[in-house]
Amino acid sequence: MTFRARHLLGVEPLAPAEITSLLDLAETYAALNRRTVKHGDALQGLTQINLFFENSTRTQSSFELAGKRLGADVMNMPVAQSSVKKGETLIDTALTLNAMQPDLLVVRHPHSGAVNLLASKVNCAVLNAGDGRHEHPTQALLDALTIRRAKGRLHRLTVAICGDIAHSRVARSNLILLGKMEARVRLVGPATLMPKGAADWGCEVYEDMREGLRDADVVMMLRLQKERMDGGFIPSEREYFHRWGLDAEKLALAKPDAIVMHPGPMNRGVEIDGTIADDINRSVIQDQVEMGVAVRMAAMDLLARNLRAERGARAAEGGAYV
Ligand code: ASP
Repeated sequence: MTFRARHLLGVEPLAPAEITSLLDLAETYAALNRRTVKHGDALQGLTQINLFFENSTRTQSSFELAGKRLGADVMNMPVAQSSVKKGETLIDTALTLNAMQPDLLVVRHPHSGAVNLLASKVNCAVLNAGDGRHEHPTQALLDALTIRRAKGRLHRLTVAICGDIAHSRVARSNLILLGKMEARVRLVGPATLMPKGAADWGCEVYEDMREGLRDADVVMMLRLQKERMDGGFIPSEREYFHRWGLDAEKLALAKPDAIVMHPGPMNRGVEIDGTIADDINRSVIQDQVEMGVAVRMAAMDLLARNLRAERGARAAEGGAYV
């Protein structure tokens, strides 16, 4: 199994072979998750702490379930009621948790780079569950698994990532991962929500949604991230839906078998028409949620193997861990 990483802080450092290994292992967990008894023992005896400084429904519950299904002791740190609210710094929180000897720390933080900083202060494996606009690696991996299952491959597919690109860590991680796996990526959205320099990232950039969707194999919609906007990025939600919202008429320009994705949470009627989101012949949004658990099981399993190997080597040299 090719997967050498100590932490999962982003998809940027992953080699294509590591991504493939992780997706292959996630396939086996997807099968396990369809069984009545869903338990594995890859994380038996390990402690997983989920530390979410930003709200989350899907990601946090998915990591919790993934850890429990593989036998870890899982603790959700209640950040809202914690000392963080009393002014404790991120580093102090990290050091406090580190002293409790966790093995896996799953962190979401509103600031780009905060999870990398935290990883440098602790002894355990850290998984980035989303940091600011930077990365959301498990989202891109679960998206890749969903696409691979629907289309049979990742290479030479045309993937249109549409909407609020500028504020989206999902778009960034997907662009990097899909590029590594040789898919063709298009970024589609209003100029005000397109990061400066996007045209130099090795992808095509479209402001016109109709052009951007033409003959696409995958249509990935993004949430309009109002919490990250401080000014007038869009004329109005109505106008936004008219020009960049996914409806049946715009979807008809993509390939007839194109799949529709959305990382959630969705703003129905703003970036996506509710009937398309619910259309089981086109939408794979529920598959994304299902694959999320499998991918997180695989990611934690692989990191735990590396952690055990590292600690075993240190113990052999007379170090602390056994
Ligand atoms: N759930 C994803 C994220 O945390 C997408 C979103 O919030 O729009 O980035």
